[in-house]
Amino acid sequence: MGEEGVIEKISGPLIIADKMRGCEMYEVIKVGEEGLLGETIRLDGALAYVQVYEDTTGLKPGEPVVRTKAPLSVELGPGILKNFFDGIQRPLEDIKHKVGDYITRGVLVDALDRTKKWEFTPTPTSTVEEGKEVVGGDILGEVPETKVIKHKILVPPGIRGKIVELKEGKFTVDDCIARIQTDGEDMELKMMQNWPVRKGRPYKDKLDPEVPLLTGQRINDTFFPIAKGGTGAIPGGFGTGKTVMQHQLARWSDAQVIVYIGCGERGNEMTEVLEDFPKLIDPYSGEKLMERSTLIANTSNMPVAAREASIYTGITLAEYYRDMGYDTAIQADSTSRWAEALREISGRLEEMPGEEGYPAYLATRLADFYERAGRVKTLCSDSEDRIGSVTVVGAVSPPGGDFSEPVTQNTLRVVGVFWALDSTLADRRHFPAISWLRSYSLYLGDLREWFNKPSSPDFTEQQEEMMALLQKESELQEIVQLVGADALPPRERGTLEVARMIREDFLQQNAYHEIDSFCSLEKQYLMARIILQWYNHANELIERGIGMEKIDVMKIKGTIARMKYVPSDEFKAKYEEIMKDMKNEFEAVKKREE
Ligand code: ADP
Ligand code: MG
Repeated sequence: MGEEGVIEKISGPLIIADKMRGCEMYEVIKVGEEGLLGETIRLDGALAYVQVYEDTTGLKPGEPVVRTKAPLSVELGPGILKNFFDGIQRPLEDIKHKVGDYITRGVLVDALDRTKKWEFTPTPTSTVEEGKEVVGGDILGEVPETKVIKHKILVPPGIRGKIVELKEGKFTVDDCIARIQTDGEDMELKMMQNWPVRKGRPYKDKLDPEVPLLTGQRINDTFFPIAKGGTGAIPGGFGTGKTVMQHQLARWSDAQVIVYIGCGERGNEMTEVLEDFPKLIDPYSGEKLMERSTLIANTSNMPVAAREASIYTGITLAEYYRDMGYDTAIQADSTSRWAEALREISGRLEEMPGEEGYPAYLATRLADFYERAGRVKTLCSDSEDRIGSVTVVGAVSPPGGDFSEPVTQNTLRVVGVFWALDSTLADRRHFPAISWLRSYSLYLGDLREWFNKPSSPDFTEQQEEMMALLQKESELQEIVQLVGADALPPRERGTLEVARMIREDFLQQNAYHEIDSFCSLEKQYLMARIILQWYNHANELIERGIGMEKIDVMKIKGTIARMKYVPSDEFKAKYEEIMKDMKNEFEAVKKREE
């Protein structure tokens, strides 16, 4: 047949096939009698090196290898949300039905349900009607995919033509919903399209990162904000809070569609995510968070090659929803497990190992992945302007929490935000354990204007002031360790106290507290203002020679400590009250002491 080769050698998830001349890189291959799925990752004359997405136990040299002549692709259409997939988009439920476990061999299942009928309504716009010309990215119509997301059916990229027929009604993803004429030829469009996962989906323009992705987490939004279309990393040792942070971002960030890619760290951790994630409630709609999420799971019993592919599968799904005009966010937990898959396969290929055994191309692979993030003008007719975004946040789990290792270092080089988790903070139960001294956001400059909008003109100024106080605290602490806090001049003791307030009353935020779990940006701004106002008042008394011991016992301190538990929508009123009470109490102390 010409496109059939033969297994020459098997090395774990990698097989070497002979008689493969003409085979393409990243082509999907069916391996062995069972037709296990794999992908070419190296070509050498007639030899093709194929990474296999399934357990290769039992494969023998001499078994056939068949080319599919297609790159590894995903199916894009209604049915992605609320679904759970493995690294190459096989629905976990379906696999379970077919083989009774997540372990699969040669199981060919459709990514999207072929039998389910979806209600398709053509978009009532002047661009899309019979006789009109459409181009890739134009919206033909929409489908209520879940309770909260309207799935836009897009003309696939690269296509241009005149609409001949546009249907309406209930269809499967495989039915024809529109016919267009391109170059005199009739072409049927379906609700489903395919896209190769290793290739970013096209768009018109990338936009500057000028709009924040708000997370409702104070340290993230106020101190180290991420932009919509930005990239961020959460490195941290075991138990420092990476997964909790990823869940918080999934729940609370103002992205509409969430793609959660789980690469289990411990044996049954992924099983926990598969059980826990579907229980999460979407605070914006009151429905299940899964109504606007899709989950890609790599359990520890799944082959490493599927894990390698999973981040590309995930980002392609996110790009597809971006193209509909949605803000999407990807949470990858953890990219270290992905890098380990890369390392294992590279080892099997007998490539020259780089740092700590990772392949030399680890850095470019990471860069290429994060490069697919962005806030863009999507593909569509010139008459329309649609904006969507893909924000990518990857957790990194460096062994022993040591950030100098290659995955953390190479990630740090390409991402815009670095939320560094600190095990000392986690041990002290300071959560989120994001180190304010080691973390940074490169988006601060681009987002400045957005944050300093008319309702919060000094947002950045307050943030800088708080940051300076925390830095001052860390300097003072060295002295305190030598001579004790009592030996410090009153003014510096005031600085230590306000820094403590910033840490405990502002930065600490309990993910499990009904109210504290989310903090609106307005509340963050006003909370910061209250703390800084306390500092002004305290300094005024200190300058008049009134000691910290008098200030320390004031009632207002307790009020400030409890303010995080006031709901965001009631906070404005509470703020006025606190500011007034604070002023009065400080006045009273001043009068009494003078
Ligand atoms: P990792 O994924 O880094 O191993 P986890 O995300 O599982 O760590 O977090 C470990 C524990 O830390 C959680 O079970 C929880 O008790 C605590 N924790 C982390 N973040 C928070 C938070 N924001 N609020 C309250 N507890 C937290
Ligand atoms: Mg974790």
